[in-house]
Amino acid sequence: MNQPAMTTPARSVPGYDLPKSSAAFARASKVIPGGVNSPARAFGAVGGEPPFMAEAHGAYLFDVDGHRYIDYIGSWGPMIVGHTHPKVTAAVSEALALGSSFGAPTEREAEIAEAVAAAVPSIEMCRFVSSGTEATMSAIRVARGFTGRDKIVKMAGCYHGHADCLLIQAGSAATTLGVPNSPGVTPGAAADTLLCPFNDADAVRKLLEANPGQVAAVLLEPIAGNMGLVPPRPGYLEALRELTTQHGTLLIFDEVMTGFRVAYGGAQERFGVTPDVTALGKIIGGGLPAAAYGASREIMTKVSPTGPIYQAGTLSGNPLAMAAGLATLNLLREPGVYDRLEALSAKLADGLEKAARDAGVPHVVQRVGSMLTLFFHDGPIHDYEDAKRSDTALFARFFWEMLARGVYLPCSQFEAAFVSAAHTEADVDHTIAAAREALAAARA
Ligand SMILES: *Cc1c(COP(=O)(O)O)cnc(C)c1O
Repeated sequence: MNQPAMTTPARSVPGYDLPKSSAAFARASKVIPGGVNSPARAFGAVGGEPPFMAEAHGAYLFDVDGHRYIDYIGSWGPMIVGHTHPKVTAAVSEALALGSSFGAPTEREAEIAEAVAAAVPSIEMCRFVSSGTEATMSAIRVARGFTGRDKIVKMAGCYHGHADCLLIQAGSAATTLGVPNSPGVTPGAAADTLLCPFNDADAVRKLLEANPGQVAAVLLEPIAGNMGLVPPRPGYLEALRELTTQHGTLLIFDEVMTGFRVAYGGAQERFGVTPDVTALGKIIGGGLPAAAYGASREIMTKVSPTGPIYQAGTLSGNPLAMAAGLATLNLLREPGVYDRLEALSAKLADGLEKAARDAGVPHVVQRVGSMLTLFFHDGPIHDYEDAKRSDTALFARFFWEMLARGVYLPCSQFEAAFVSAAHTEADVDHTIAAAREALAAARA
């Protein structure tokens, strides 16, 4: 979600034209800021105007100008079983026929909460909300309410949605007081957010020691996906687990992106480190607006109405979203799904790595499960400072050349690509062949 300013205008690609999209974009831009309802969609980091989408099926997106794309954004994460999966579509249609919102409890909410508690090691109880932003914001409130402390620690380059106290990323020094990175976030909202670099447990230790008894929570993406894909260094998550326990601070994993993605039980299952509180989103809604936060029974019973920590939502646990989420989770429990995602993603990562090597461009491919990023940077990326040294102008040219060849990658160097269960070996082969051509064209 990090969007440094575009420096080099993207070149147009001969033969790849978007007249209907362009007209739709002009119309939308008059009534919607930037023509989009979420900034990344406007292609600010790569220049140019975005194709407008008409349909999506399986692993493919179809734009209004008649182009087909192999989709590696999957709606930025949720579409892990592919678009319009028949079982998800049927579940939503059946639910819709029975009523789209009641403002009263339904049986399916307990069914999906049971599935989440069975899947995610840190969760005994959870509460459904409508977006990842709401999930992390509520997780922070719970951590503060539970510990009676105000401060939180977040990692530079990690994105947790747009709640005020979390829109803080840019520290001038390695560890510093947060400075808001959006107008409208008050210094007061920023003052209780302390920043550390990702992958630096010692920086967290120093902050906890410098603020004894004051830090409610250490919050992070256990695998960073919003600065491009950056895995935790070996021992990093374990060290944070130990430090937070020592200081009576809650450890919050924002698994909005990684939950049900890198393993059915998320990064906490994959790495064997259990946080106190977990935020979920994206996949859990199966392409409809749903997210959740969860923790132990001891923590979650402090949430209203059983406890004093207030949190509510008119459309929370919405029947259509619960149906889509539950159908998606059921599909993910079928045998072999994650093994196949792993193998296909490894093949893609390997092919992109070889293509970049043969093209002679600076590169490193980082991957965990079905999340990956090709960085135009020589050597591994461990944190946001490393990521920012990537060649974003080369990325922008590469992105457009791929789009013109029918491959839809995330439109920023600082985002992860996602492989879905609907992708085939042939899709991956096509993508690698396209990358070879695109790299040659982008380098020229
Ligand atoms: C997408 C994302 C969010 C925000 O979720 P929204 O549904 O867009 O509000 C929060 N945290 C992480 C790690 C995310 O990837």
